[in-house]
Amino acid sequence: MARPSLLLLASVLAAGCATQPSAGQVKADLIVAGDYVLTMDGDRPVLEVGAVVVDGGRIVAVGPRDEISRRYRADETLDGEGRVVMPGLINGHAHSAMTLMRGIADDRELMDWLRNYIFPTEVRFVDPEFVRIGTELACWEMIRGGTTTFVDMYYFPDAVAQAVEKCGLRVLVAPTVIDQKSPDAADAADSLRLAADFVAKWKGRNNRIIPIIGAHSVYTVKPPQLEAVRAKARELGVPVSIHLCESRFEIDYARETYSTTPIDLLEDIGFLDGPTIAAHVIYPTDEEIPILAQRKVGVIHNPTSNMKISSGVAPVAKMLQAGVAVGLGTDGAATNNDLDMWEEMRLAAFLQKVATMDPQVVPARTALRMATQGGAEAIGLGDQIGALTVGRRADLIQVSLADLHFTPMFDLVSHLVYVADEQDVVTVVVDGKLLMQEGEVLTVDAERVRAEATALADRIRTTVVDKESRTPVAAP
Ligand SMILES: [Zn+2]
Repeated sequence: MARPSLLLLASVLAAGCATQPSAGQVKADLIVAGDYVLTMDGDRPVLEVGAVVVDGGRIVAVGPRDEISRRYRADETLDGEGRVVMPGLINGHAHSAMTLMRGIADDRELMDWLRNYIFPTEVRFVDPEFVRIGTELACWEMIRGGTTTFVDMYYFPDAVAQAVEKCGLRVLVAPTVIDQKSPDAADAADSLRLAADFVAKWKGRNNRIIPIIGAHSVYTVKPPQLEAVRAKARELGVPVSIHLCESRFEIDYARETYSTTPIDLLEDIGFLDGPTIAAHVIYPTDEEIPILAQRKVGVIHNPTSNMKISSGVAPVAKMLQAGVAVGLGTDGAATNNDLDMWEEMRLAAFLQKVATMDPQVVPARTALRMATQGGAEAIGLGDQIGALTVGRRADLIQVSLADLHFTPMFDLVSHLVYVADEQDVVTVVVDGKLLMQEGEVLTVDAERVRAEATALADRIRTTVVDKESRTPVAAP
């Protein structure tokens, strides 16, 4: 009888000892290990058998696994066998709550889609509850797929901010200024007033929730109103997000209405003279590309959305070559129709190759950079996130290499960009907190959100009617 008791005592003592740091070991919150640590840091982009140490929401060390084990002891250690640790993906342009309009009006071009389906549906259905549910739905999908930061442009920004505050992601929330009746405002002045109130309320409140201002576009906001947006953003010290050169329609509109191009118009009124996150930028002229670089405009390329609604092909290779900061985005789920950043990486590379008939443009490494460090630069957080270096916020993911589609593996980056998908992501950490572990999203109640989204969709389904056939567009 004595023997088991002694064994038990020995193991209790051993466990007790294990919680105490040994001499010289530094205590940290979390250690995330990997067979590979893909830092996206220029000096040492890939470490084999490494680990990242997190404390107080920041990265405090990155190095070889055995060295880290000697120097640090953490409350929690995530093993890294068969896994890659890398920066979380950055979705630079989204309208999260539009997950609730996914599939409502597919296979249409932008202006038909916007004017005949989306704007009317939004005015009728979008309220704080709609935005809360749609944003939670989007957050679940983004966490599952390894996105750690996104830029959101939508209505009822408090509902977005509150939902993201709970789910743990990092977000730039842009309330939309638009000169028409929208779900939360009567016109441009009204929406700008709401946007300014939102920024004042949320600025500096939570380092993960960054309030900014969104100007919808040059075809929905007049030049004096755009000037007012920039002036207010400058006063409040925040960037502006805008849809820019998104379609042929916008180019024609600017020519017919203002006898100029959208970029020239913005340059003329001094709009680009301040931090700008411009989504799409499909039709800059060759002369305008250096202006984007000079003005440090962050461009967000949305290949899937641009392809689906036939908006065109952005000259991404040219913009990168000219030194423009280019990131990637999904756009809303109603023009994508998912929030999968792995797909955006892949399509960003493929679309440039086929558009230029040159397989060497936008290689896998460039696509990966656009989804991480390049995206961080484009949204003005280039020194905060996007790479695994000491001092940055701890936004990182583990990708499992267990799936047979990674075997054999000759080139890690090639596999991550051209093979990996959302299901391969197993761990998501934002600001040092675990949002997903072993593939299970910890911060969004998927079943509650499913029930809420299903109930809302039932209301929408019965009222959105196809203009030509007079039948519900989303009939089962
Ligand atoms: Zn958009």
